[in-house]
Amino acid sequence: KKGLNKTRENLTNKIEKLVIGYADIDDDFLDELEETLIMADVGVQTTEKLMTAVRKGIKKKEINSPEDLKPFLEKEIAEILNAGEDTTRTAENGPTVHLVIGVNGAGKTTTIGKLAAYYKAQGKTVMLAAADTFRAAAIDQLEVWAQRSGAQFIKHEEGSDPAAVAYDAVKAATARNIDVLLIDTAGRLQNKSNLMQELEKINRVIGREIPGAPHETLLVLDATTGQNAISQAELFTKAAPISGVVLTKLDGTAKGGVVIGIKSQLAMPVKWIGVGEGIEDLRPFVAEDFAKALFA
Ligand code: GDP
Repeated sequence: KKGLNKTRENLTNKIEKLVIGYADIDDDFLDELEETLIMADVGVQTTEKLMTAVRKGIKKKEINSPEDLKPFLEKEIAEILNAGEDTTRTAENGPTVHLVIGVNGAGKTTTIGKLAAYYKAQGKTVMLAAADTFRAAAIDQLEVWAQRSGAQFIKHEEGSDPAAVAYDAVKAATARNIDVLLIDTAGRLQNKSNLMQELEKINRVIGREIPGAPHETLLVLDATTGQNAISQAELFTKAAPISGVVLTKLDGTAKGGVVIGIKSQLAMPVKWIGVGEGIEDLRPFVAEDFAKALFA
């Protein structure tokens, strides 16, 4: 499955070697398993959780030999990833509004373009709003994605108030019967208090015009940054109530284990994964598929 090759090489091949290398499960085996999980960026806390489950599995005789380990881990990981209600929220009537947040370079603009194409392919009308008014290049780039995906586009001048863009977009989307409105935002974490105020204001404006909106606040994280992605997520939870994560660049990294850490440590569902730079390279995240692909 595209996107997981490197993670699989890193995590699963090591577990494979571990299984082949040991006839019995002993302390060395368990130590090596623990190290393998940490190296795959599953995260320390989540690794501990998995190791506790493995030790319990051994005690309960669910794991009797090293070979039993792969199916056992697959099941445990699927369970972690499956916990909670993770479906995408949509508006009962009027536009469904997605606010898209994350630091510059994480893949926000690309993800919005891919999401636009995804919803267009479902026959929906889509509008993109350039509420990252800080950089002219960001506005231009989003406009290119709007053209590419056949979405409508709302922008103001560089430097204008992001909340004013959001307001216009919500008004226009309602008037034009748009199904899905995707709002891009600035990602300057170096100016945290501004960013938070900006996101709060955007949220307020949107919620006033469309009760219940934004229906989704998606945080875009770069998987290649591994555990840093988790620290970033923690910061952003202070700025906005995040409903889901888009994990990008899974195609270029051995750190796909970070998916498990995000869910397990932050209780945040990964809703989409980015597996390339193209317009089609976005997948809805399915826990069982991910766990299976990891150990395929
Ligand atoms: P933004 O600053 O957060 O809006 O980031 P961009 O959308 O401009 O993306 C930054 C870079 O990451 C661009 O070169 C994208 O093509 C690339 N990118 C985004 N998503 C993915 C992905 O899923 N896989 C790969 N390989 N590259 C990606």
